Amino acid sequence: MTEHVPPVTQASTGAGSRRPSGRADDADVIVVGAGPAGSTTAFYLAQAGLDVLMLEKSAFPREKVCGDGLTPRGVRALVAMGISVSEQDGWVRNKGLRVIGAGKRLELPWPELSSYPGYGLVRPRTDLDQMLARRAQQAGAKLREGVTVTGPVLDERTGRIAGVVAKEADGERTYRARVIVAADGNSSRLSVAMGLRKRDDRPLGVAVRTYYTSPRHDDDYLESWLDLWDGDRLLPGYGWIFGMGDGTSNVGLGLLNTSAAFGHTDYHALLRKWLAGMPGEWGFTEENRTQPIRGAALPMGFNRTPHYYRGLLLAGDAGGMVNPFNGEGIAYAMESGEILARTIAQALARARRSETERVLAGYPQALREAYGGYYSVGRVFVKAIGRPELMRFATKHAMSRPALMRFALKLLANLTDPGGDATDRLVNGLSKLAPNPK
Ligand SMILES: Cc1cc2nc3c(=O)[nH]c(=O)nc-3n(C[C@H](O)[C@H](O)[C@H](O)COP(=O)(O)OP(=O)(O)OC[C@H]3O[C@@H](n4cnc5c(N)ncnc54)[C@H](O)[C@@H]3O)c2cc1C
Repeated sequence: MTEHVPPVTQASTGAGSRRPSGRADDADVIVVGAGPAGSTTAFYLAQAGLDVLMLEKSAFPREKVCGDGLTPRGVRALVAMGISVSEQDGWVRNKGLRVIGAGKRLELPWPELSSYPGYGLVRPRTDLDQMLARRAQQAGAKLREGVTVTGPVLDERTGRIAGVVAKEADGERTYRARVIVAADGNSSRLSVAMGLRKRDDRPLGVAVRTYYTSPRHDDDYLESWLDLWDGDRLLPGYGWIFGMGDGTSNVGLGLLNTSAAFGHTDYHALLRKWLAGMPGEWGFTEENRTQPIRGAALPMGFNRTPHYYRGLLLAGDAGGMVNPFNGEGIAYAMESGEILARTIAQALARARRSETERVLAGYPQALREAYGGYYSVGRVFVKAIGRPELMRFATKHAMSRPALMRFALKLLANLTDPGGDATDRLVNGLSKLAPNPK
């Protein structure tokens, strides 16, 4: 084992706290992964005065396969962290969602609410993730890039996670902390090493995306296409076209695991087939493609639980927090990071170990209160649209009823005010009434 430490991109290295065993910790909290979940967790922890160390396997700026779209929910999370979201700072705003399906086209503005802004954003993840990581550093978090966590260090006496083993440029080393956060994305190697696998009773999506130079690059609506066909079967999922404002459009599609086609679909072929039906002047052709077609999984509706297990806490995709209705994950990664950081800050302020433990153990319940009922409704939705005849029926009927689609937008994007108008109360009521299993 080597004592080499890769460059710390924040000046302070912090002495860390001392364990009862006398061994010095590297930080109060270690956050594994500096995507939106990890950086947001680290930001709020640092703001609360804790010594926090993020370990990230890549080096910023780095690519992340994504649609690059943020609904007003994502905008709210950015604003809460003090990030400027003005157009002068390179953000591309959108007014709402344009839905195309069953031969119709509807433009649905984002709802007017007090809880969320009335606009969404688009930003490449290469920029967004770096910006969030730097924001966490500004708040005082330490970040080590090029550090791949390979497994947990367990306390021999209690079996709890007490640190992590990491592979670095020139060897392996261990890092220790009082609390460890897994924010290492969909595969969450750390969760798996602790025995936490994905649940097969929860939804999962797969999506692919690429970029094309296109005159549609400055579209001020996010666009989603409901007509994805596998022969004569309408598939549960959608295609998207998001203008990046830089001469290109992010174009992709995602499918849910509730369809028979899931697992044996050639996603690249499906994307090409779907795009072949688009007007030629939009430019979605091979010559205009600027990036390879890349894909990844979308872990939805709490598809890895428990969110607290033997000292390890899960945030974002690691905990399967993507919204099953629309595949949005950035906002939920950031929100779960904030909920988690506030829980940890309270827990570490308690005098006795048993009290700390009690507070940490409350994190899964806090998540269930935030999303549990809503995700339960989402699981029913995902199952229903996995049946091609139901998907076809729903698309056809909803698309000819704009008022119903405005309600659907609130439900699918999880955008309501507490109290709110009749549609808000209906969406909120559904989530409240739904069973909220562990
Ligand atoms: C094709 C596609 C399109 C999507 N489109 C959208 C969209 O338009 N809008 C939206 O809101 N969501 C979208 N999502 C979902 C969204 O990308 C995720 O939900 C979001 O990135 C989750 O953030 P996270 O921080 O939990 O995980 P990630 O963003 O995956 O970050 C995890 C971080 O952990 C690091 N890491 C992983 N393993 C280790 C390790 N062993 N050691 C150290 N570091 C490690 C990774 O390098 C990474 O930086 C899309 C997903 C896909 C696949």
